[in-house]
Amino acid sequence: MILISGKEVAESLKKEIATEVAIWVGEGKRAPHLVAILVGNDGASQTYVGHKEKMSAEVGFRSTVLRFDADITEEFLLGEIDKLNRDPEVDGFIVQLPLPEHISESRVTEAIDPRKDVDGFHPVNTGRMMMGMPSYLPATPDGILELLKYYKIETAGKKCVVIGRSNIVGRPMANLLSQKGWDCTVTLCHSRTKNLKEEVAQGDIIVAALGKAEFVTADMVKEGAVVIDVGITRVASDKTKSGWKLLGDVKFDEVAPRCSYITPVPGGVGPMTIISLMKNTLKAAKKEIYG
Ligand code: NAD
Repeated sequence: MILISGKEVAESLKKEIATEVAIWVGEGKRAPHLVAILVGNDGASQTYVGHKEKMSAEVGFRSTVLRFDADITEEFLLGEIDKLNRDPEVDGFIVQLPLPEHISESRVTEAIDPRKDVDGFHPVNTGRMMMGMPSYLPATPDGILELLKYYKIETAGKKCVVIGRSNIVGRPMANLLSQKGWDCTVTLCHSRTKNLKEEVAQGDIIVAALGKAEFVTADMVKEGAVVIDVGITRVASDKTKSGWKLLGDVKFDEVAPRCSYITPVPGGVGPMTIISLMKNTLKAAKKEIYG
């Protein structure tokens, strides 16, 4: 069994991005500029945005965080998005989700100029992705593809089972793995899937993205399978200083011995997500997708 180290892959890609940025800036061009909008004071969102800011600095980007109170109106937020859309000094921006309930996530997502949508959530980018056209790929599925590439994991003709059909993880993952170049035969499982165990047990590659701690057990995993664990659930623990620990969607200790490859939680898919955002921002600065 080979443990896939997202940390190692992320570190290697980070160096590549930093080198590319240094060359770009060395040619006299402006450093790529990423803006994050943060609404309210949700603890997890603040942490994520903090990580994105730190990573931006590490690869040589300029980064800006716009912080707004939770009680701003949707109209105000749409106005800020419009300003960023029109600002030639901004290459890409993200609106950190979730948003307060009175603001529509879909209206906000659709207001972002697809050329600056470095989260890849705008329907134009989603549509282009589905058609195999150049687009900003959503970070988590893209990060998983990078892991498969780095470890040279064979995907062509393999049966891949994705568990979870969210717009940001499961569904794009299933679509991308079915595309030319990856060539998997994909089954997309969700909460209404019948005989889920039997479906998962057929997977040469299993991507677990349902958000239920330790859901995937050894009896659901074929001997020699590749297991990618996307889930992150925070649970109380008396063994850690912080009083909590993170669990994946896979019961790691019993599943790992059956696998050819497996990602741990933490340190597997997680570190890849921010890297994909950096990749997209560099592409935006270089106008690689839309010219
Ligand atoms: P989501 O809640 O939007 O979607 C979960 C999906 O799982 C749904 O489509 C649902 O149909 C399916 N599901 C729920 N219960 C199920 C069951 N019993 N059997 C089969 N399918 C079931 O979640 P999401 O945003 O896609 O995130 C999934 C998990 O991945 C969460 O734990 C989240 O924290 C984690 N996540 C991790 C990263 C990362 O960087 N590692 C990034 C994004 C999300």
